[in-house]
Amino acid sequence: MRIPFVAGNWKMHGSKAMIQDHLGQFTQQASALNNVKIAVCPPSLYISDVQSKLAGSLIAVGVQNVCEQAGYGAFTGEVSVDMLADFSIPYAIVGHSERRAIYGETDAQVADKVAALLASNITPILCVGETLDEREADQTEQVVAIQLNAVIKKVGAAAFANIVIAYEPVWAIGTGKTATPDQAQAVHAFIRNLLAQHDQKIAESVIIQYGGSVKPDNAATLFAQPDIDGGLIGGASLDPIDFLAICKAA
Ligand code: 13P
Repeated sequence: MRIPFVAGNWKMHGSKAMIQDHLGQFTQQASALNNVKIAVCPPSLYISDVQSKLAGSLIAVGVQNVCEQAGYGAFTGEVSVDMLADFSIPYAIVGHSERRAIYGETDAQVADKVAALLASNITPILCVGETLDEREADQTEQVVAIQLNAVIKKVGAAAFANIVIAYEPVWAIGTGKTATPDQAQAVHAFIRNLLAQHDQKIAESVIIQYGGSVKPDNAATLFAQPDIDGGLIGGASLDPIDFLAICKAA
């Protein structure tokens, strides 16, 4: 039995004032939900503020990226897994399409980040997904398989016992164009089957979130699909009422 998991990816949004207001409202009501895991991933600068605000609740804090180099060193602008561990951060998003497209992150780099996180007992939320061109060229499965196989090659399929996957079709992110429940379900089933070829048990237990324009009015039908185990929420996670409604739908 998989417990659904909803995470909010704030991207480059947020402020001290927003944390006080947003999380104050959200935490009180979300704490009553008991059949869903919830995390919020603010910009790293705000981790301490968010942790203080969430103290005593079951809502977890994650980051949006991590350096593939563990430890400490001359990597200006980066944050290492050791620093995440120092703050007891349980989750880190890796391989988000914005990181891949804007900052040129490669499949190999993403796999290295996953490996570094696992070595520090931090759960990666591994994002995969195709662009519109790739979907229209009927390459969705091929693209998602390449992205996943790079990670399987690096850490092995058994490591997916400690990895969350987020399927995020790039064309649905921030566009208001959600994948239909059938479209999303088909890719989620493909991902689960791909893992099942290595390890049936892990395939059955791995959490696969859907991300891309999830809103209160489409969350329930997406989350009702058999292979969709919650969501990775961008824009709607910035509104406490919308985010709460989405968590309730899981
Ligand atoms: P939106 O929910 O704003 O489409 O963003 C999805 C996303 O990229 C979450 O990581």
